[in-house]
Amino acid sequence: MRVSDFLSAYGHAGTIDLGGGFALLEDDVPGGSVIVATALVDTGARGYASPVTVDARLDADALDWIAASGLAPDRRLCSLDQVHGSVCKAADDAQPVADASAQTLARLVGTDAVWTRSPDDVLIVRTADCAAIWLVDPEHGHLAMVHAGWRGAAAGIVRNTIDALVGERAHADFLVAAVGPHIGPCCFEVGPEVARLFADIDGAISPGSSLTAPRARSDSMALNLSAVLVEQLRSAGLAAGAIHVATACTRCFQTEGGAAALHSYRRNGSGGPLMGSIGFLER
Ligand SMILES: [Zn+2]
Repeated sequence: MRVSDFLSAYGHAGTIDLGGGFALLEDDVPGGSVIVATALVDTGARGYASPVTVDARLDADALDWIAASGLAPDRRLCSLDQVHGSVCKAADDAQPVADASAQTLARLVGTDAVWTRSPDDVLIVRTADCAAIWLVDPEHGHLAMVHAGWRGAAAGIVRNTIDALVGERAHADFLVAAVGPHIGPCCFEVGPEVARLFADIDGAISPGSSLTAPRARSDSMALNLSAVLVEQLRSAGLAAGAIHVATACTRCFQTEGGAAALHSYRRNGSGGPLMGSIGFLER
């Protein structure tokens, strides 16, 4: 899909607005529906995420989805073994996977963010309730992708990724961030021990009574992961207008027909399907 196609597709009959410069385009590409990061238009990078009909947990399935959709032809998939940690690595450091062609798949172990300057790389982050974040420096041609849930946010994954980009001559004040769909404060129940980590961030914590999802414990609170990530991006030097955040909650957002529109760990449980969010630089 070309940039002009995003714009004409955005608003067509099968578009579901996910807020913040993200849209679910139904049956828009050969592989089926696709989530598009329209916030990245004109940045020189593209962002897509797999729909609820795709489980991108396994590399083979992610490769099949990318190939079937035709979204990112002739590129190497750079896959992360995510650990909810704070490490960002270069795609150049990814190791070829033994049972795959080095041209199609490489992997980074123990990392939750990855950056590249090569249009030959497709970066992938897997989530279900955590957020995938695209970070682009349009002036200098950097792209990073981040896996950020509360653990990674608390551990500093956002700051570490921006530091890695700046260390490679990106500029924080040029960076554009697109934060993909993640669990909302309506459904993100956390215990007081987690809430305490984010107590200093405006709007991050609300009383548990504000949760619309059933609560598992009586002393719980509601965590607004969006507020946490925006504050971290702002404090790392990004302009407010350069930060785009999807508003659709992965746990409770539904299509008009009442079907779940996004994968959710809290809804599906451990071992459930994962959304694959991919990013790459235009050639
Ligand atoms: Zn929700």
